[in-house]
Amino acid sequence: MSSLNSGLAAGIVQAAYILVAALFIMGLKRMSSPSTARGGILWAGMGMVIATLVTYLLGDFNLNLALVLIATAVGGGFAWWTGKRVAMTDMPQMIALYNGMGGGAAAAIAAVELYRGPTESPVFGTLAVLGGLIGAVSFSGSGIAFGKLQGLIKKSFRFGGQQFVNMLLLAIAVALGAMIATGMNTSPAVVTAFFVLALVLGVTMTLPIGGADMPVVISLYNALTGLAVAFEGFVLQNAAMIIAGMVVGSAGTLLTQLMAKAMNRSLGNVLFSGFGESSSAASGPVTGSMKSIEAADAGVMMAYAQKVIIVPGYGMAVGQAQHKVWELAQLLQNNGVAVKFAIHPVAGRMPGHMNVLLAEAGVPYDIIADLEEINAEFETSDVALIIGANDVVNPVARNDKSSPIYGMPILNADKAKNVIVIKRGQGQGFSGIENALFFLDNTRMLYGDAQGAVNQLIQGVKSSG
Ligand code: NDP
Repeated sequence: MSSLNSGLAAGIVQAAYILVAALFIMGLKRMSSPSTARGGILWAGMGMVIATLVTYLLGDFNLNLALVLIATAVGGGFAWWTGKRVAMTDMPQMIALYNGMGGGAAAAIAAVELYRGPTESPVFGTLAVLGGLIGAVSFSGSGIAFGKLQGLIKKSFRFGGQQFVNMLLLAIAVALGAMIATGMNTSPAVVTAFFVLALVLGVTMTLPIGGADMPVVISLYNALTGLAVAFEGFVLQNAAMIIAGMVVGSAGTLLTQLMAKAMNRSLGNVLFSGFGESSSAASGPVTGSMKSIEAADAGVMMAYAQKVIIVPGYGMAVGQAQHKVWELAQLLQNNGVAVKFAIHPVAGRMPGHMNVLLAEAGVPYDIIADLEEINAEFETSDVALIIGANDVVNPVARNDKSSPIYGMPILNADKAKNVIVIKRGQGQGFSGIENALFFLDNTRMLYGDAQGAVNQLIQGVKSSG
């Protein structure tokens, strides 16, 4: 390529990267509302396609195009196939897997740079080492998170002094990284030891964490992957990587904070406490008895209500009941009942879990409300219908200081005139504690799998008129 042509190509690449950055940021903005989220994903995806194409076609480096095409076809094909097949309840581990790949890719870039010997300057060396360390931890840690959520790793592997061992591993990895970054010792043996330690650290950090806490951990690794990609973007002088990495890093950090806040837990507590693992969690001062109800009676109660608020939870996802739930809501609407859905920020097992399921069933966004919007409305509703939700409606969070969920904002379902709870039996929620709501005078339990029970409710409502 002549120097004029290569100058032009470099200009086009930089201009394309600015467009790509705008697409990423606008795509992310659109992902903040369910009604525009699908478009947001397309915008961001388009940005990624443009970034990949201009880099491959106009980038200033020698490229084995055949290998690139094969790798892209294999990776893209696998992602397309698995993305189409994955069940909604398996989405968290899918995200863990993809996220881990991002961290691994950042670590691989660092490895290529560091195995070449001393870097251009200690600054570049430091950035490559930091990106390599964080990327490798995120890669192996996300792999363990995937294994736990997929049920491949069932134990939590805790032992005394675990934190100390992790700190020691980190300290040695940082010391080796400093030797490499400053050019003191960049031998392949040191670089290899550095990466092996980082990978081991990701494993030992993640193994003790309870499976149910994994979504928060995945979100944290997502933030770390973004940071690693941004560091490697500086090393490669690639603006698109820097911007994409920063966007992912800050979005992941915010999401991690929001999730921890909605669960009323600190990040340290998530990482080091093993919450949700122990069956000896506090039971709370709950007294009284649970009163059951038949679907036919519950159907009549709902058919004659003026206002019903539906609270979906993890059990709705397990029972894949969202389509039946929407059928019930439409039936009630046709009977003149005002129906709304109340979504808690951590209902289910991943952020937006309930929104995604309701959107899949076709529930319109204008009858879906967040916690802050809907909480005052429970007092004026005739029935709160709880479908497989437990912790997010547990009133002990308000006043029992000894409870592990104390301080977590909850949906005020107990304030409704009548509460109907659909669940299979006496199973506890994620926090492993008893739910005071189930024992209240105005609560009735409708036992059964979410999908079957909602179907019976539909029959109950139909036969009531
Ligand atoms: P919970 O996990 O508190 O409770 C779910 C309830 O659903 C169980 O009590 C279970 O009772 C019932 N259930 C399970 N399967 C079925 C089924 N097939 N049909 C009917 N009922 C069923 O769910 P919530 O959504 O209320 O709360 C989410 C919890 O998860 C919170 O504690 C939150 O902090 C935590 N969490 C959330 C994350 C997120 O990002 N959303 C991430 C990590 C944790 P039974 O066995 O008797 O049927």
